[in-house]
Amino acid sequence: MKKRNLPGPTEVKMKGKFMKSISKVMIILTALLVITGCGKKSPDEQLSKFIDEHVQKVKPLFREMGLASWQAANSGKEEDYEKASELELKIRRIYSDSKDFAFLKKIKEEGNVKDPLLSRQLDELYNGYLENQIDAKLMERIVELSTKIEKDFSTFRGSIEGEKVTDNQIREILKTETDSVKRKAAWEASKQVGQAIAKDVTELVKLRNEAAKKVGFENYHTMRLSLGEQDVKEIDRIFGELYDLTNAPFLLLKFELDDILAKKYGADMTELMPWHYHDPFFQETPLVYELDLDGFYKDKDVKELATKFYTGIGLPIDSILARSDLYEREGKNPHAFCTDIDKEGDIRILCNLKNNEQWMETILHESGHGVYDLYQDPKVPYLLREPAHIFTTEAIAMMFGRLSRDAGWMGDMMGLTDEQEAEIAKVSGKYAQLKQLIFARWAMVMYNFEKELYANPEQDLNKLWWDMVEKYQFVNRPADRDQPDWAAKIHIATVPCYYHNYALGELLASQLHNKIVTDILKEREASYVGHKEIGEYLKENVFEAGAVYRWNEMIKRATGEELTAKYFVAQFVK
Ligand SMILES: [Zn+2]
Repeated sequence: MKKRNLPGPTEVKMKGKFMKSISKVMIILTALLVITGCGKKSPDEQLSKFIDEHVQKVKPLFREMGLASWQAANSGKEEDYEKASELELKIRRIYSDSKDFAFLKKIKEEGNVKDPLLSRQLDELYNGYLENQIDAKLMERIVELSTKIEKDFSTFRGSIEGEKVTDNQIREILKTETDSVKRKAAWEASKQVGQAIAKDVTELVKLRNEAAKKVGFENYHTMRLSLGEQDVKEIDRIFGELYDLTNAPFLLLKFELDDILAKKYGADMTELMPWHYHDPFFQETPLVYELDLDGFYKDKDVKELATKFYTGIGLPIDSILARSDLYEREGKNPHAFCTDIDKEGDIRILCNLKNNEQWMETILHESGHGVYDLYQDPKVPYLLREPAHIFTTEAIAMMFGRLSRDAGWMGDMMGLTDEQEAEIAKVSGKYAQLKQLIFARWAMVMYNFEKELYANPEQDLNKLWWDMVEKYQFVNRPADRDQPDWAAKIHIATVPCYYHNYALGELLASQLHNKIVTDILKEREASYVGHKEIGEYLKENVFEAGAVYRWNEMIKRATGEELTAKYFVAQFVK
């Protein structure tokens, strides 16, 4: 208990008298200052005024841009895309204003802002402006080069014995072919694009580093993370924990998998090579464990299932679905996304629904993003009325998306028999374990490679890549291979230093799941279906907090711990 020092009666009296004369002096001084024009506003007042004016400018533009992008994704028309990118440019122009940035920088460096909410908005604004302070000419070169790489990548066709092949043909061979020589040829064809674009990608990396150095960072990787309020040491620690905790289990699981693959391809287990793993980067599970759940969904309506489920957990999504565009149409974007148009409840989902497991997962996933946006607290300032981080909204989406293959969930939602549930559980448990572990180890390759790449783009990158693949994925390096296989992963060029967020999202999804089953439902094996407490918990602890707290602070408040890999491991390593 802390003692409070209350002033005694005489002290109060004295103070009262003293204060009176002080305030008289103050009034005179203030009047003088106002007259002479030296009136200085406090940092809080100055910042608050800046924010008001800034929000007034950007709020309608963000809304307009949201609507234009939505229109473009639905129509596929060139002019709609143009309108959206014009609006984006308009917004970027606001954030590139160097005078505004100088003001924010000064106020941030002085560190005198007292109100924590203002301070958080300052962080957001500062990062938003900083990103746009890069010299316009340099920025232009970066955009041009990355556009060129993207185009070269998408038009490139690898070849097998002189015959051009498409990406789909390569994947088909890697899925079905049993002859190792043919598999090898297909895998090599998948890497040829790397050889075609590697020089440009290295050049792009150097330009990005140049830009980052100009705004005060060690390199581009450090800058990207820092702009996303992530500290390299902090992410290293989480990835280090994930590495340690998954090392032995992954080795065991991979041993089991290698045994199956070796038998299938008539090879010795020690001779298995990268082309034996179905996916060219071994980022997905080889198709050796059957899991076809489409049969359960084909006579159901996935939209109705999602609506019923979210209503049941106290997070109705009817208002989102009413504004959404859910079915296939000519010219429409074939993928799926969720967008918050105005931070005031206009949230929409784009899907191309079919009644199968993949689209069940997708609508659960996108609606997860949707409820995070929909159940924000309208009293939170506009700039902070958004998820704490891109990966925290990804986590909510993933946590709900995982349910489409969850035996308990499927049973409760579709009234399956105990036998059916048991049958699903048998394969889906194993499948989820493989899928998650394989992905986690692959994400380690990407995170650590990009970190090293930007730290020193002059090093032997071809060797670095295979060092990483061997270390994290336990995949053999083909003898004497000296090719830029890393450049064949287009994310390195087009979505730089972002990949780790997918892994962080999976970790948080498991951490939240653990919290829900242990503290909210108080039953490990409980299904989420019909539990309104889940919605209550998420609203109060995750959604309504918006970006008021930095992501790790929000996670600590919501789960009692900062982000950790241990619940992911507990969920998927059996
Ligand atoms: Zn998502």
